[in-house]
Amino acid sequence: MSSSKSATFNVAAGPSELPEALRNSRQLQGDATFCFDCNPKLGCFTDCCANINILLTPADVLGLARRTGLTTREFLDRHTLVPITENLHLPIVMLRMDDTAEKRCPFVTAAGCSVYEARPWACRMYPIGMGLPPARAGVEPEPGYFLFQDDFCHGHKESRTWTVEQWQRDQGVLALEEVEKGFRDLVGHPWFIGGRKLDPRRIEMFFMVAYDLDTFRKFVFETTFLKRFDLGDEPVEVLRTDDRALLRFGFRWLRFAMFGEPTVKPKPQAAGAAEVAP
Ligand code: SF4
Ligand code: SF4
Repeated sequence: MSSSKSATFNVAAGPSELPEALRNSRQLQGDATFCFDCNPKLGCFTDCCANINILLTPADVLGLARRTGLTTREFLDRHTLVPITENLHLPIVMLRMDDTAEKRCPFVTAAGCSVYEARPWACRMYPIGMGLPPARAGVEPEPGYFLFQDDFCHGHKESRTWTVEQWQRDQGVLALEEVEKGFRDLVGHPWFIGGRKLDPRRIEMFFMVAYDLDTFRKFVFETTFLKRFDLGDEPVEVLRTDDRALLRFGFRWLRFAMFGEPTVKPKPQAAGAAEVAP
């Protein structure tokens, strides 16, 4: 069994151009409703937690690292894969399944998800998938939503009805939306239109800031960073202790470092202020 429990897809104009995983899914527009429920009494309980590709967002890596008591670097080394993807403009991070034949998620137990409060965005969203149109300069991309109807999942036979928004609210997706959108805006930035590619140094910077927040914190506080950059209204001490605030600032910093946007100001007196590495 291979599940389509997955994250965000880029979708083009017509159905023939939809990614394979979305071809047989139902599009959910506006207030369209769907029937679904998921609970331990269902015969399929945890069947969806094996043999799956789960893309992790920066907020996922951070939440799971904190939940498991690991640093972000330790979590990345122990629990993720970073496949080499020549046709993607930025690296992606996937949750590593265990080495058994079933390829179970390392966090699944007979009682369910052992990291439930920190479960990834894709796990919260399932059975909903999100599609984003290709980036267009000056156009705010409007996500589209799809309903996966996998045969192994009995949740679709339940009578409880939801709109996409109700489901997202119930699953705690809306509470994370600000930081998730900040990330989507980076990876879908119009700078990439026409196949432009970042140099390896900037790709490395993206990976550190987005996924390895503990190392980014050291970069901010243990190098010349604060001498070289004016953080504006950002209270420095908040960034020292508040993970979400640091991640939000990190996205601002990446817009400056990757795309040259004036989202962070170099201090004029600092030599080499525009350098993006320590
Ligand atoms: S209902 Fe679907 S999502 Fe819930 S446990 Fe069963 S397979 Fe997984
Ligand atoms: S993180 Fe939790 S919900 Fe997601 S696949 Fe693993 S056990 Fe299942």
